[in-house]
Amino acid sequence: MERPCLYIVIPCYNEEQVLPITSGMFLEKLNSLMGAGKISEDSRILFVNDGSKDGTWEIICRLAAEDPHYIGISQSRNRGHQNAVLAGLMEAKDRCDITISIDCDGQDDINAMDEMVDAYLDGCEIVYGVRSRRDTDTFFKRFTAEGFYKLMNWMGAEVVYNHADYRLISSRALQELANFKEVNIFLRGMVPLVGFKSTSVYYERHERIAGKSHYPLRKMLSLAFDGITSLSVRPIRLITGLGLVIAVLSFIGVIWAVVSGLMGNTVTGWASTVCIVCLMGGIQLLCLGVIGEYIGKIYLETKARPRYIISDRTWEEP
Ligand code: UDP
Ligand code: MG
Repeated sequence: MERPCLYIVIPCYNEEQVLPITSGMFLEKLNSLMGAGKISEDSRILFVNDGSKDGTWEIICRLAAEDPHYIGISQSRNRGHQNAVLAGLMEAKDRCDITISIDCDGQDDINAMDEMVDAYLDGCEIVYGVRSRRDTDTFFKRFTAEGFYKLMNWMGAEVVYNHADYRLISSRALQELANFKEVNIFLRGMVPLVGFKSTSVYYERHERIAGKSHYPLRKMLSLAFDGITSLSVRPIRLITGLGLVIAVLSFIGVIWAVVSGLMGNTVTGWASTVCIVCLMGGIQLLCLGVIGEYIGKIYLETKARPRYIISDRTWEEP
């Protein structure tokens, strides 16, 4: 088999502190893979600048001028991590045989790439990078992050446990992923839906080399909610179930009220009535909110706006 051409796709948002350090590590890895004869010489490191407000794009341009293995594209504005990764993957899919997406902060162990490429050479089209330990994350981050995966799966959005967006995808699988036209993208949930032979590679997660995380708890919760509502209708089913349970309980309550009324016991409980009315009001609003979220998504999907807009490239398009 001919040696595959690899593109390492790296989203970057306000990473001027990190990029000068990690870019060298990525190039070293690429060189060692090329040296080992696993990938072809035209492999590249593709940075995706996600509308950074600092000097990230300037750094990418400088790197591209220094070494032909570095290339970069820039999004016209900040669209978030998922859109940045998708933009990079779609840009790469017609130019290479395999892509590996990885964050630029050095948290994911680049040495897992060797195993990923080996798994591809063994016939896998998708290789998930899975964190085996999170010792360097704080207890709080670890607890919330692991809760995130459990909640996702429980809500019907199947994701690979402890796998983020560090993965190898072959261009063949990417061509199929390109047919998933949704604008609400959650790659962790979409890639398993593409199918093909896949496997996992385990690695240890390190601390961020510099700068700080863009995913505090608030963003993580919104990512979880977004992922769930993009991939599954289980929350709506749960609402249906909840409605049924409450209806049955109320029916029993009505029978009880009638029977005790007939037996001459008039009920005094005003407070308990108000409590139940408020509780019901709250539950109804919550359920409406969940349904509204889905309607909002339908609204966005019907508009079918572009998922990313590339404004600059470090090379000249013919
Ligand atoms: N990122 C991005 N756009 C954003 C936020 C983040 O492209 O709007 C990139 C960021 O530069 C990094 C990756 O996504 O390469 C993951 O972000 P971060 O390390 O902050 O998240 P964490 O690892 O803490 O979950
Ligand atoms: Mg990170």
